[in-house]
Amino acid sequence: MTATDRAPSTAVDRNGQPLALLTVHAHPDDESSKGAGTVARYAAQGVRAVLVCCTGGEAGDILNPAMDRPDVRDRLSEVRAEELATATRIIGYDEVVMLGYRDSGMPDSEANADPRSFARADLHEAVGRLVAVIRRVRPQVVVTYPEDQQGYPHPDHLRVHEITFPAVDAAADPAACPGAGEPWTVSKVYYTTWSRGRVVAMHEKFLELGLESPFDAGWLDRPSSDGQITTRVDTTGVADVRRRALIAHATQVDPASKFWFGLPPDVADLVYPIDEYVLARTTVETSTPEDDLFAGLLGT
Ligand SMILES: [Zn+2]
Repeated sequence: MTATDRAPSTAVDRNGQPLALLTVHAHPDDESSKGAGTVARYAAQGVRAVLVCCTGGEAGDILNPAMDRPDVRDRLSEVRAEELATATRIIGYDEVVMLGYRDSGMPDSEANADPRSFARADLHEAVGRLVAVIRRVRPQVVVTYPEDQQGYPHPDHLRVHEITFPAVDAAADPAACPGAGEPWTVSKVYYTTWSRGRVVAMHEKFLELGLESPFDAGWLDRPSSDGQITTRVDTTGVADVRRRALIAHATQVDPASKFWFGLPPDVADLVYPIDEYVLARTTVETSTPEDDLFAGLLGT
């Protein structure tokens, strides 16, 4: 799918309000690894899709040996920005908003001590920045990260969770954040999740094809939280978007990674063409399980 395949942003909710989906992610590449197919699907249906990327990803290691070169290292933040622009074009985002913080790195790292880092930033101030975006974009649906991130407790990912609900609440409150736009009530908030069902399906496909699986006991023995999943979005037909968007993050994603690309592309696209979410909050009536993030918001 390319930008030219896009339907105009004409999809509306039952109140005639243009449909908008706002995703909040921590680093360039998170938008590609989490929910890229979902965004591609909605963008193709005329839903306005906006990404908030909280940091510039400056502290990430160069994970692709072919890109670990002085000319890339010297201008890493620019390179990451270019990669993000390419990836979000592939996915179909209408707009990318950089929230303007620096990557916090992992705890005890040098980046983590930087006062400009997202983890060190004043929480109130960070919430205020997100409120301004919510009020301008007016999304019915916001996608963010769960509170429990034991699998990957990166400080910036935790911070994404910490700012989202206060921002959603403040965006709706006429008394909060004066000067940051007209109040707007977000109808639904979702958490992204990486299900055990997906891990097992991929692992079994590797074995079935006689390939070495990158999913070791550390993955397979993790306690499952699949029971919390409320919403499964079918990404059949757009499943390749995630792979192509990930490859665009050439410094962050090694094209030789078994984890991302170990299965042949046509197999990978079909093995689990579903993005899964946990409905964390809703102001509209909906019945779970759902297959649509906008369920309860459309038609009558
Ligand atoms: Zn990240």
